[in-house]
Parts: sequence; C-alpha cells; structure tokens
Amino acid sequence: MGTKTILVTGGAGYIGSHTVLQLLQEGFSVVVVDNLDNSSEVAVRRVEELAGDAGKNLVFHQADLRDREALNKIFASTRFDAVIHFAGLKAVGESVQKPLSYYDNNLIGTITLLEVMAAHGCKSLVFSSSATVYGWPIQVPCTEEFPLIAANPYGRTKLIIEDICRDIRKASSDWKIMLLRYFNPIGAHPSGHIGEDPHGIPNNLMPYIQQVAVGRRPSLTVFGTDYNTNDGTGVRDYIHVVDLADGHIAALQKLFQDPNIGCEVYNLGTGKGTSVLEMVAAFEKAYGKKIPLVMAARRSGDAEIVYASTMKAERELNWRAKYGIDEMCRDQWNWARKNPWGYGSPESES
Ligand code: NAD
Ligand code: UDP
Repeated sequence: MGTKTILVTGGAGYIGSHTVLQLLQEGFSVVVVDNLDNSSEVAVRRVEELAGDAGKNLVFHQADLRDREALNKIFASTRFDAVIHFAGLKAVGESVQKPLSYYDNNLIGTITLLEVMAAHGCKSLVFSSSATVYGWPIQVPCTEEFPLIAANPYGRTKLIIEDICRDIRKASSDWKIMLLRYFNPIGAHPSGHIGEDPHGIPNNLMPYIQQVAVGRRPSLTVFGTDYNTNDGTGVRDYIHVVDLADGHIAALQKLFQDPNIGCEVYNLGTGKGTSVLEMVAAFEKAYGKKIPLVMAARRSGDAEIVYASTMKAERELNWRAKYGIDEMCRDQWNWARKNPWGYGSPESES
C-alpha cells in the first residue's frame, strides 16, 4: 500500500501534523488542506523536514473546506485513495458561546467535503470523532456501544457528523468509513519540533500546564476538587499523540484491506484513567519544578470520570497505545522548552 495518496484535512493542526508525519514515514503521499484558522504553516514545513526524503511527498493547500471550488480543484488534480478528516473547530466553551460558527464550520465543512469526495469517486473516509459523544458516562470504561449524547454544540457537531456518515453508508454501500473516537490526546513528537500550539487561552489541561511551565500563565486552575475520584479531581484517558497518529495508520490499513468495512467506530485511548493532580505530578517530574495551582469549582458541563475500553481497536485494528503518562509529559515538556511560544513568538500572543 506504499503508493497510496491520502488527503488530510486539518493536517497543519495538532493531531493532523503528527499523523501526516507518520503517513509520510509509512510511504504514503499526502495532500494537506487547512485554512490555518488554528494552526501555522510552520508545522507543515517542520513535518516536511522531519520526514527527510519522504518530505517531498507532501503537498500543502491553504483552503477552507467550505470553499467547494477550491476542494473541487484539489480533487480534480489528484486521485485520493482515502481522506482523513481532522479539520474542525474544537473548543467546547467557545462552541457554547458561538454555536452557529461551530455548526457552520464543522457541519458545512464536512458536508461539502463528503459531496466533493462522492463527486470524484473517493468514498473512503477516516473521521475524527471524540469521546465527548459519551457525555457523562454512568460507568467506565466507555465501550463503542454506549448511548451517545451531545453535551454541547461542539459535541453535537461530532454526533451529527457520525450520524451523517452512518446514513451515507446506508444509502450507498461503496462508502467505507472509520469513525475514531479520540480520548485526550497530549504530548508531542519526541523530536520536540512539532506539538500542540492552540491560538488564544488554552481550554485543555496539558496545553495550559505547558504555558504555566514556560511562564506564559501564572498558575493552573484545577476545576473541581470534590469529584468522586481518588484525589477529588476529574479523571480522563490521556493518550500520546504519536500513539493516536499510529491509530490512524492502523485504521487506514483496515480500510484498505478489509472488504467488509461499512461505517465502523473505534475508541482510541489507553484504557487508563488519570486525575488532574496525577497529571500535574507527572508533568512536574519531567519539568523538575512545581506548577502553581489554584483550586476552584467544577467547570460547568465537565464529566467526572471518562476512560476508554480499547478492546475493539486492539482486536480489530491490531493497535494499542504504547506510551504512558511519563512519556507523554516528557515529550510535552521537550516540545514546550524548545518552543515556548509554539510556532509563533511573544509578539504573536493573543
Ligand atoms: P487543531 O485545531 O490543532 O486542528 C484542526 C485543524 O483544522 C486546524 O489546523 C485548523 O486550522 C483546521 N481547520 C478548522 N476548520 C477548518 C476549515 N473549515 N477548513 C480547513 N481547515 C480547517 O485540532 P486537533 O486537536 O488537531 O483536532 C483535530 C480533530 O480531532 C478535530 O476534528 C477535533 O475536534 C478532533 N478531536 C480533538 C481532540 C483533542 O483533544 N485535541 C479530542 C477529540 C477529537
Ligand atoms: N482541567 C483543569 N484545568 C484546566 C483545564 C482542564 O482542571 O485549565 C481539568 C478538567 O476539569 C478535566 C481535565 O482537566 O477534569 C481534562 O480537561 P480537558 O479540557 O483537557 O479535557 P476534557 O474535559 O474535554 O476531556
């Protein structure tokens, strides 16, 4: 399968850039489409460098998925074997404030992509869904059969896109779709040259801790100390972004090799839960100093404990996460200390 060409939407972003690097290293040709709304072209250039010789098999187009004409041109010039669709807005809180932006970007972007794919005869898709579709699970680990709910507009876009995928597959059996439900991706490529660089104030735990460590923020606010967990703080399933990227290669292999693929769903997590304070302690071990903490009330809408059942992915994709939280924190800190301002500079800080 070495000569296959993959379109990666959102390939300049955090998970996208790590996945593009692994695709290149596995011998795929890759075309990235990204509007750079939450990313930088520097990430694409660094991926190209890290890939060495294979870097020549990477093409970048700055375009918005809602720009049908731009997408049509890209599909007319290249025949894609599959699309990995990362592009979307992903901040839960912002989605509550600006629901229309989220519905417009995530839904119209995806529908346009699916229509253009169908028009050009490319019906193989890997889509970035999220553990958010499990809402506030009443038990853990979360299996793929759990009831699904939309806890906020961001989550609703994921659920609607999953439903759209199930529907198009029902309507036309030539679609082959992998819905990957990510748990909490953190860490960075071990080189420290690519990593997560969110625009604005980070919403997620690790990017926030990282910005405290490099002196961009004074302290970490711990949201909730009265959860029914070992230390009272919320529990999540953190997964190294390199393991997550590997999960996409495994999903593509299944897509290409298994004739019985319809619209399939897989959790990508480690199956282990870690509390906020455990995560802080693991980061401090890598960082060598303390992270100042401010204990605060629960963040509205947060679940108490979420972690994955990984059995289905292990069984059917032959994939499992290799790294633990120590390696995640080591690589997060390595990226942070080498790039305290991410891909930008203090002047580009918003
Ligand atoms: P990211 O913001 O770093 O990457 C998304 C990329 O998509 C960005 O580069 C952005 O510029 C681009 N983009 C957004 N809208 C676009 C549009 N209309 N047209 C073209 N490009 C567009 O986010 P990420 O963390 O890499 O997440 C990738 C995907 O995984 C997203 O769909 C996200 O919802 C999903 N996901 C992320 C997490 C997480 O915690 N990071 C968890 C579960 C699911
Ligand atoms: N969290 C926190 N302070 C922050 C950001 C997050 O205490 O600044 C907590 C949050 O309440 C949750 C965990 O860290 O228990 C993971 O939060 P994140 O937003 O990264 O992931 P999600 O809640 O979407 O799974």
